[in-house]
Amino acid sequence: MFAPAIRIARLSPLQLTAVVAAVLLGGGGATYAVGNLAPDASDLPVRTVVEAIAPLPISSQIDLIEAQSLRLYRSDVMRSSDTVDSMLKRVGVFDPQAADFLRSDALVRQTLLGRNGRNVSVEADDDNTLLKLSARWSLDEEGMFKRLTVVRTATGFRSQVEALPMTASSRLASGTIQSSLFAATDAARIPDSIAIQLAEIFSGDIDFHRALRKGDRFSVVYETLEGDGEPMRAGRVLSAEFVNAGKQYQAMWFQEPVAHGAPVAATMGQSPSAKGGYYTLAGESLRRAFLASPMEFSRVTSGFKMRMHPILQTLRAHQGVDYGAPTGTPVRTVADGVVEFAGVQNGFGNVVHVKHRNGNTTVYAHLSRIGVRRGQSVNQGQHIGAVGQTGWATGPHLHFEFRVNGVHRDPLTLARQSESIPVAPSAKKAFANAATMVRTQLAAASQILATTTQ
Ligand SMILES: [Zn+2]
Repeated sequence: MFAPAIRIARLSPLQLTAVVAAVLLGGGGATYAVGNLAPDASDLPVRTVVEAIAPLPISSQIDLIEAQSLRLYRSDVMRSSDTVDSMLKRVGVFDPQAADFLRSDALVRQTLLGRNGRNVSVEADDDNTLLKLSARWSLDEEGMFKRLTVVRTATGFRSQVEALPMTASSRLASGTIQSSLFAATDAARIPDSIAIQLAEIFSGDIDFHRALRKGDRFSVVYETLEGDGEPMRAGRVLSAEFVNAGKQYQAMWFQEPVAHGAPVAATMGQSPSAKGGYYTLAGESLRRAFLASPMEFSRVTSGFKMRMHPILQTLRAHQGVDYGAPTGTPVRTVADGVVEFAGVQNGFGNVVHVKHRNGNTTVYAHLSRIGVRRGQSVNQGQHIGAVGQTGWATGPHLHFEFRVNGVHRDPLTLARQSESIPVAPSAKKAFANAATMVRTQLAAASQILATTTQ
């Protein structure tokens, strides 16, 4: 009905006393006449508090003010060609003493000089004298970042490198495909590692090399790892939605609570649930026995258009899928299996045949290099060679075939049909709770598009 009225007068810091006056509202005990809901302000108890505040000595106050008004903060990104002088010049520091220290300090030489892309920030005073320099970068070790600091002390400069934990926050983003997935993720300022994860997460349902269409859209929630509040790198995709040719696919990361002594359901030698994995929001694992694409999605492979197969087509009916990619691009097996053939075969050039369960065989042709031997066991996703143009090929590309009992089939259809593993019954409740939250987040993520594209 009424808000406590508190007025705080702040006086100049240079003054010896500050007066804090507050109107403090009395607690219960007041009785009001019917119809008079608000108390009369004049009835309220009023306390005025006057306190003497011991000020800092004038000289140190002036020091403080000077330091604040004259301290300059600048940051820049290291280039591989940088010397101490070129780096200091870009951040506006002119300080021969600091330059000498930076040139000779082992930590600075190890962790900063020649480190392309490493962010460096400095604090300097109005003479462009260096007071502090710091740089942060992330480690391979999960969840940690390193921080180099160089500080000016009374006796000279001191440097140190510390390892500190990163903090994770999540970012929501979305986009629409106009020309390519990377063009769309660039527009939404989504890092490449997230774009690649997106393509991999849905790789059992969508062949990102062949099936993307203009107007396809996606929403994604992913981790951003920060060090001292500065974004270090993107982490894992937490949830995502992809609408391909009008059909909606959704995915979320889920880690089943570990139940001791419970048997782990093993499928094709893998147990995706033990380490966590991606699931549909209905609780089906997105990990399939067969991947749709024999190449990882990347900036390099995404730029290539589907190519025709002029030589083979004139000689016989073309029975596979061709992926244009530069010579040397890694080729992976789409499922666990055993190498049935690895060598040269006429039009195929260097070719690998992999035999899988249930009479399925995959063929990878025109390779520049073969990385496996006949009889060898291979795991899904393992690199078995590299793209080339051996045999009857007019340019570098991978010719990929999927055969079921010797009959050619569409790889994507087979990938989609391959079994998927549901979340364990014991984890169903936890999963349902997580999925509810994911639906809300994805809905929020998709709204970001609506506001940014207007
Ligand atoms: Zn072909």
